[in-house]
Amino acid sequence: MNDIERLQGLVDSSKNIVFFGGAGVSTESGIPDFRSKDGLYHQKYAYPPEQILSHDFFMTHRAEFFAFYRDRVLALDAQPNAAHRKLAELEWAGKLKAVITQNIDGLHQAAGSKNVIELHGSVHRNRCLKCGKRFDARFIADSPGVPACPCGGAVKPEVVLYEESLDAPVIERAIESLAVADLLIIGGTSLAVYPAAGLVDAFRGSHLVVINRTPLGSQQADLFIQGSIGEVLSKIHTIEKY
Ligand code: ZN
Repeated sequence: MNDIERLQGLVDSSKNIVFFGGAGVSTESGIPDFRSKDGLYHQKYAYPPEQILSHDFFMTHRAEFFAFYRDRVLALDAQPNAAHRKLAELEWAGKLKAVITQNIDGLHQAAGSKNVIELHGSVHRNRCLKCGKRFDARFIADSPGVPACPCGGAVKPEVVLYEESLDAPVIERAIESLAVADLLIIGGTSLAVYPAAGLVDAFRGSHLVVINRTPLGSQQADLFIQGSIGEVLSKIHTIEKY
């Protein structure tokens, strides 16, 4: 039995699958991983991405923050890939109960997923810091310079910046989903980023599958498939064979 057949067997015998996805899920839709080391950042920007995408930088260098954010973070033309589509299909079929993601691009919802737990927030939610008025991502993309609310307040994307803590109710939902899952599929991440990495400890089910392009190191998995998350998941059949 090969790895795909083993994964198919686990999917077929599970009723409460949770998928935990990292940056690799989005990079297959052409979205750059802003956490990865990329020489271009250092040629074009005066600061490293971790500094630009930090709370302190947002408060003190707002024009530079939004220049980088529009250029490197917002990717409104990106489309869901085979991984997003298969996960939506698995949820529709009643197999998959939640997608927990470290990505902020909304592509799981664009593919049709309903229960998406966004650990780092979403570019699609933006709010005025003064009056609370909400704005979509297109407003941020189309605003020249620093996006401003009609009330004069600054508009902040509801994405978790460096130095900011994750939203407690969101973590709670993730832990609750993991605690009752029977199969956990981790894809497109090495799980190196804490605290997301620690969330996996909440999983009590019997099978842990990891799909990633790079080897795992010490992470214990029942099944590790090295490869593209989209390619691997597209080989899985949602409806069990009769
Ligand atoms: Zn306002």
